[in-house]
Amino acid sequence: MSGIFGVVSKADCAEILLYGTDYHSHLGTEYGGLAVLGREFTRHIHDLRQSQFKSKFFDGYKRMEGNKGIGVVSAFEEQPIYQNSRFGPFCIATNGIIENEEELAAKLLKRGISFSEVSRKTVNTTELIAKLICQGTDLVDGIERMFDAIEGSCSLLLLNRTGVYAARDRFGYTTLTVGRSKDGWAVTTESCAFPNLGFEAVKCLEPGEIVLINEDGLVQQRPGRGKVNQICTFLWIYTGFPASDYEGVNVETARERSGRFLAKRDKDIHVDLVTGVPDSGIAHGLGYAMESGKPFRRPLVKYTPGYGRSYTPPSQQTRDLIAKMKLIPIRDVIEGHSIVICEDSIVRGTQLKNFAIKKLWDGGATQIHVRPACPPLMFPCIFNLSTRSIGELAARRAIGALEGHDLADVSPYIDHTSEKYTRMVDWIARDLGVTTLRYQTVDDMVKAIGLPREKLCLYCWTGHCPKGACPKAAFDIMETTRSSRRRQPAEGVDQQKLW
Ligand code: SF4
Repeated sequence: MSGIFGVVSKADCAEILLYGTDYHSHLGTEYGGLAVLGREFTRHIHDLRQSQFKSKFFDGYKRMEGNKGIGVVSAFEEQPIYQNSRFGPFCIATNGIIENEEELAAKLLKRGISFSEVSRKTVNTTELIAKLICQGTDLVDGIERMFDAIEGSCSLLLLNRTGVYAARDRFGYTTLTVGRSKDGWAVTTESCAFPNLGFEAVKCLEPGEIVLINEDGLVQQRPGRGKVNQICTFLWIYTGFPASDYEGVNVETARERSGRFLAKRDKDIHVDLVTGVPDSGIAHGLGYAMESGKPFRRPLVKYTPGYGRSYTPPSQQTRDLIAKMKLIPIRDVIEGHSIVICEDSIVRGTQLKNFAIKKLWDGGATQIHVRPACPPLMFPCIFNLSTRSIGELAARRAIGALEGHDLADVSPYIDHTSEKYTRMVDWIARDLGVTTLRYQTVDDMVKAIGLPREKLCLYCWTGHCPKGACPKAAFDIMETTRSSRRRQPAEGVDQQKLW
């Protein structure tokens, strides 16, 4: 994921832009970028792989002059992109992922449109989005056409002389919230950027909605598309910052409710203390402790200075190194205790096993009960980057081990009341080396967030998304699942041959 922040102020905006963008550092670890428009555009982009956002931008931002700007912390690529287009010059920052970008780039190349921001990939996604927007009759029309052309998700901020245009992904997978202060307006992926900068959230954009903020205020350019809203459930489970709200639902309180649901189903275990894997497991653990009446303690503490998330860097080696170094065990809290440890999710399970569970056993825990705040992950995200590939997922490895191969139709393993589900969870528990493992159910996860189920993307767990909101990659998986259901093997027939 990436995080984007835009501001229009009465005075110079660079300082607000710096701190507002920095509040998205938990979302991306690759590149950061700021663009400010005064008499002219100034733009800085830095590689963040070895250092934090503020340290890279602290000197440069003081030389950025202008009252409007946009910033981004990106998990993928260099942004914001500058374009001198037939609609005038603009800078653009995006948050999303496009499944059909090669196909779209090829079409544009055929029309004689060139790409310049080519570095680690064949196309810079944000540049592609900029070029697609320039195919419209004006910027707003171009954004709408771009929405229709892409498979995937895209929220964006576009800065030009008129102000900052903000457009939320047409299916709402990622969010944008508009805030107001006495000196101006801002728009942000994470609403936690607002309170300390003096902004109050006034509006969460609807899926597909396009607004403009400028010196005159907030002007809607296009209403939301209304029909489908598929906000990413993982924002509450893991990726979002605790102080942020999406669709009016705060992350911290949703996590606490999630922990309470986990505790409600745990009447059969004895534990001495409850904890959470820092940081995102903490609030789930607090909710569990509140519900169970057991003390919340910290057998593992995170050495916060200098360590980002162990999830966001693309290299597995870097992720593992961060995971190993950042959690420090406290033997005094661990020794002789039966511990419930809440975790946001289990993706591969290797970091949890090697760098949290091992430290607890080594520290002298007598029992370890793991409680992930979401169901087993079955499908990689194809909307805005989450899990990497099917084969890496702990649940899929369990299914592969139990069946002898992965299945096209995993629905029996998704049903938490089925025997297959129980066998899969037992396999993962053995693999992790824990006393018990009990996942959150889809229903309780949805209840913990508190939005209607149809407003949440549950694709990671169910493999389903509403008609029309489904990129081709997801559609193909769903089709495979459907057709494999039609071809249920007769008893005694080797399933491997049919699939
Ligand atoms: S598939 Fe998962 S990570 Fe991707 S948008 Fe949906 S809930 Fe979020």
